[in-house]
Amino acid sequence: MKDPNIIFEKNNSSLSFPQFKLENEKQDVLKNIPDTLLRDDLDDHATYSENEVVRHFVNLGTKNFGVDSGYYPLGSCTMKYNPKLNERVSSLESFTKGHPHSHPERMQGNLAVMYHCKESLLKITGMDDLTLAPAAGAHGELTGLHIIHSYFEKKGENRPYILIPDSAHGTNPASATMAGFKCMTVKSDKDDFIDLEDLKSKVTDEVAGLMLTNPNTIGIFEHNLAEIVDICHAKDVQLYYDGANLNALLGLSRPGDTGFDVVHLNLHKTFSTPHGGGGPGSGPVGVKKHLQPFLPEDELVCQNDKYFFSDRGDSKLGKMRSFYNNYLIVLRAYCYIVSLGKEGLRQTGLMALLNANYLAALLKGKVEFATDQPTMHEFVITLSNLFKSTFGDNEHLTIMDFAKRILDYGYHAPTVSFPLIVPDCLMIEPTETESKQTLDDFAAAILTIVEEAKNKPELLKAAPINTPVKRINDVAAARKPILQYQLEEE
Ligand SMILES: *Cc1c(COP(=O)(O)O)cnc(C)c1O
Repeated sequence: MKDPNIIFEKNNSSLSFPQFKLENEKQDVLKNIPDTLLRDDLDDHATYSENEVVRHFVNLGTKNFGVDSGYYPLGSCTMKYNPKLNERVSSLESFTKGHPHSHPERMQGNLAVMYHCKESLLKITGMDDLTLAPAAGAHGELTGLHIIHSYFEKKGENRPYILIPDSAHGTNPASATMAGFKCMTVKSDKDDFIDLEDLKSKVTDEVAGLMLTNPNTIGIFEHNLAEIVDICHAKDVQLYYDGANLNALLGLSRPGDTGFDVVHLNLHKTFSTPHGGGGPGSGPVGVKKHLQPFLPEDELVCQNDKYFFSDRGDSKLGKMRSFYNNYLIVLRAYCYIVSLGKEGLRQTGLMALLNANYLAALLKGKVEFATDQPTMHEFVITLSNLFKSTFGDNEHLTIMDFAKRILDYGYHAPTVSFPLIVPDCLMIEPTETESKQTLDDFAAAILTIVEEAKNKPELLKAAPINTPVKRINDVAAARKPILQYQLEEE
């Protein structure tokens, strides 16, 4: 290895950025950089002092908002604090340096982690078998739906429809369509539970499955679950459990025991992995015995204390993910499960419920709730009536104005305008990792903004004013996203 001082010379000031010493060494470095990427307007650009550079990047780093810098009560997507211990473990070289082509004999430790994580998830969900392959929640949905498809194909039945409640997460209909099904909507009743009469009228032998989120996206437990299961199973309609956010039920109730045939989990929401920004994630899929043959072909097994992938005979699915899957996410989840243990996981579920109910109690009577039903791990408030009373008849405040004002108080806004069946709504999931103090402060901020909406609505219209980036054009951001840094045309 070259002595770095041959290329770089320390400037007179020890705080200065190193300078190129030898012109030909400099040319050597520069010739590897395409001409179009080189600046010719700066000759001596490496002349900033170390503290200027450090401050520049440290300040840039604080312009972003994340769960490590502030509270993030995002409904449905469970943005909770992830223990740093799991990050430490998953950055150990023995895990990160495993080569995808290494012989399984030399990957026994890594495979053991996967195997035991799978066994733990089976116990947590109450399912009979499970694949760790899918790389995200939606990928898990796609896998689960293909499994259901293979099941009916084997039985020689043509079932083109999947039933999806109107409150469902958007990935449900998207995945069903990707898997080649047609979607049929099941209505919610006036209390936001599945409308049983509507369900009965739609469950036929043309329907392959019902996708259900429980607690549903309003944050309430489907109290008719046993009946829903009976209605579906009477026609062999497979029950799919969207367990992206299992927090509410961790250690308290298992989808496998309540009649579900397929379940996916989001390890990156419920089992501690930082997420947002598109990944990486992990969406394991668990199934009941009758669906086991239709899991992806690479089955993780343990025989005589040896761990290896075995080929699952007549699986139609092939592989859903290459090599060892999103291994480091599985590892983090396993650390989380092992460090909490059975009682700790149960405590997690209880804290998720307690925090949501506590925060809801602070807001009850002061803002309008989407439902009067008891809250599980998240709840939905609706601000339509508040907005109608502001700004006269012509112009109303919108939920976006309200959400942007929340940013001014130093919080990430909750999910807005979702679920689609509630107008002008905020969907709030406090998560199990926040303190009473944080919840008290957040409730106070929400109530202050409610007062502002009544008395100084222009503050909401102008928000956010305290953030590095002000109000962006949502439509342009969605329709014309700039996903790549473009050099200006000369
Ligand atoms: C996040 C989420 C999904 C999708 O998970 P991804 O990892 O983003 O693909 C599905 N269902 C529900 C209820 C979710 O909250």
